[in-house]
Amino acid sequence: MRYYSTRNKKTGVSFAAAALAGLAPDGGLFVPESIPQYPRAVQTSLGAMSFRDVAFETVKLFAEQEIPDPALADIIEAAYPFAAPLVPVDGRLVLELFHGPTAAFKDFGARFMARVFSYLRRGENKPLHILVATSGDTGGAAADGFYGVEGIVVTVLYPKGRVTPLQEQQIAGLGGNISALAVEGSFDDCQRLVKAAFGNEELKKRLALSSANSINITRLIPQAVYYAAAAGKAFAGKSDPLEAASPVSAAFTRSDTLKPAAKQPTAFCVPSGNFGNLVAGLYALEMGAPIRLFIAATNRNKTIPDYLETGYYEARFAKTTVSNAMDVGAPSNAERMIAQWSLPEIRRMVRGVSVSDEETRAAIAQVHKAAGYFLDPHTAVGWRGADILGIERNLGGGNLAVLATAHPAKFAGIVEPITGPVPVPLSLKKALERKPRSAVIQAELSALMEVLEVVR
Ligand SMILES: *Cc1c(COP(=O)(O)O)cnc(C)c1O
Repeated sequence: MRYYSTRNKKTGVSFAAAALAGLAPDGGLFVPESIPQYPRAVQTSLGAMSFRDVAFETVKLFAEQEIPDPALADIIEAAYPFAAPLVPVDGRLVLELFHGPTAAFKDFGARFMARVFSYLRRGENKPLHILVATSGDTGGAAADGFYGVEGIVVTVLYPKGRVTPLQEQQIAGLGGNISALAVEGSFDDCQRLVKAAFGNEELKKRLALSSANSINITRLIPQAVYYAAAAGKAFAGKSDPLEAASPVSAAFTRSDTLKPAAKQPTAFCVPSGNFGNLVAGLYALEMGAPIRLFIAATNRNKTIPDYLETGYYEARFAKTTVSNAMDVGAPSNAERMIAQWSLPEIRRMVRGVSVSDEETRAAIAQVHKAAGYFLDPHTAVGWRGADILGIERNLGGGNLAVLATAHPAKFAGIVEPITGPVPVPLSLKKALERKPRSAVIQAELSALMEVLEVVR
């Protein structure tokens, strides 16, 4: 499989080159030359396969020939000691993506990427320097994913004062090969700094730079896996029991016996910010997973819902909301979406909706009252987005799954005033004991370069 820049369809590179470069030399994002198809035998048995097997069959198609099967199986086994349960909640399905070590879906991409990098860099002696811009969760997931990985150093940039204390502990509490920078600015500033660093010839000459943002194709590919696994499971009429899947919510949840409708595709409601998760879903759909459509639910940062409505893409400044990991005004994966599909194609696959903070809080309250289940604010944006669109009416008996992108305990400051105490998973308890250590920098490339000089 060759990978092309979104800005230049002429010169393709290998999977390894696209992975390690992160961003294409012309500033574009790498996209696969074509989206591979699941072989028929895989497509028809998705619902019967383990999460890891779906991961293997999915990633294999993208990394063709470049990672031998046994090495790929090892990477997947090490990356995924957890899975993505599909549980019934108050008449809908919830795809719980928060069972990894940082309790957010970004663990799926980050843990895979870290192990792929380590595999691709085997035998090198210059350390690979990973730059990550985060609105909160990416940084924690990347820090955790790369922590202690040989031959790799990581610098995480996050907007100072705009992440939760727990996110800061996850980003800046590990130390070792992970450094943290608190940037005086927004997430968009952090992202701009990282892009500027990659565009700086002097820096590139001195450091082996790579990125770990959702702009990296190795973050995106493994995220297609949980859509395929979940859609396959629902198509087979199966879901996961809430008690087994989610011990955290079980204590508070009435048993809900909803069974997915067998032989029906699934519509996924995706709480979206930078749109990596949504693009990964589009890959799963095109690969042949039984998926009906996607709902891209954003908070007030509604660049993409507006694009879907008007046909014009207009980047904005980010607004601050209660779903801070989605406070993105210029979603970088929009470039992938627009490069790979036409507007009518995108409109056929994706419905956009924007949800206010009040509506987000109302959804947390409503689902807790009705089902005793805790939604985190991002998941609540998705839940409410599906309500606003009245999407169930349009599905003709098909299944609807809302992606739970983070564990509610990560955003206890917002959730608990509405619901009362949220149970804390073990992974977060460990992070809460860490002491964050970060340097503060201005949102300027010169400041970043000065710090990298020291880290080098
Ligand atoms: C990052 C994040 C999102 C947004 O995902 P994108 O791929 O950037 O659209 C949603 N929810 C949570 C909890 C996140 O951390």
